[in-house]
This record gives sequence, C-alpha cells and structure tokens, in this order.
Amino acid sequence: MAAVPAVQRLPTLQRARTLEIYKLVSDWSGNSGEILYVAHAITANGAFCLGDPPEQDTRKGAKFHPDQRYWDKKVQARIDAAGGVRAIVRIEIDCTLMPCAGLGGCFWTVPSLVQKTTGLSVDLRIFSHRDESMGKNDNMPKRYFECRSSDTHVDLEPKYDRNGGWDWAAL
Ligand SMILES: [Zn+2]
Repeated sequence: MAAVPAVQRLPTLQRARTLEIYKLVSDWSGNSGEILYVAHAITANGAFCLGDPPEQDTRKGAKFHPDQRYWDKKVQARIDAAGGVRAIVRIEIDCTLMPCAGLGGCFWTVPSLVQKTTGLSVDLRIFSHRDESMGKNDNMPKRYFECRSSDTHVDLEPKYDRNGGWDWAAL
C-alpha cells in the first residue's frame, strides 16, 4: 500500500505591517465576538482598503457571511477612486476565521465573487486571525492560503489544506 503523501504546506510567513491593514486588523486574533472581514488591494506603493467590514448579519447560511456580502458595487467604486485595476498586484483578505468550506461555502465562492466584482484575475492571499487549532504543525495559530480569483473548483480543492502559518513581522 502506497504511503499517503504529506500535505505540502505553504511556508510560514512573516507578514509586513502595512500600516493601512495593521491598524485595522491587528486586534482580530483576540476577538471573541463579531466575525470580521476586510480586503485590501496591494499596489507597488502600499495598500488601499476595498471597503469597510460589513455589518453583522445573523441570518443562517454561507451567503450571509461577511465574506460573501463584502463583494458588491462599493468595491468597484473604491478601485475606480484609487485609479483603477491596473495598480493592483494582489488582494489581501483578512477574516476572523478561515472561510467555511462546505457546500456553497465562502472558500469556494469568494474567488469568483472577487473576479465578478472587480473584473480582475488576480492573486488572493487570505489571512485568518483567531486560533482555530489549525496551527499544531508549526505552532502558528493564524493561518493563510493563496489562490487566484480565476480559480475553478478543481484549482481550489487542494489549497485549503495547504494553509500555512503567519504572524506579523517583528518591528
Ligand atoms: Zn462562510
């Protein structure tokens, strides 16, 4: 019987403290209440916010999660105001928790929502903040994974399990 290959994980990441992002999300790891969500466009010169974290919505179902409610017309307006999509080299998403990955879950749905909303085929780097006991391998409770907005279901499939640990780079 062939051995099951070990999951090839992303390397642990020391994340730069980009000010626009850090000041907004640095206390999310201690958050025991609201589930928060925000995205920033990374450009050659820094970052700009694509929209404020959505208000809480207590309705049941993944489509009411902040991940899926975030990507609406306001995002396109922010991009237009910042000079259009050409300046964007990557989108970084911060969420309290790793996206849900069940049927219709945010993990599967958000990349295509990003592409639909922005018209961009772009690299996405998604960071979770709260300890969900997923960091036993590397003792890093905060997790991240990478994908592209154009990824299909098949492209996405292995990427959740490839999550790596991250933390803020030392000052
Ligand atoms: Zn979700």
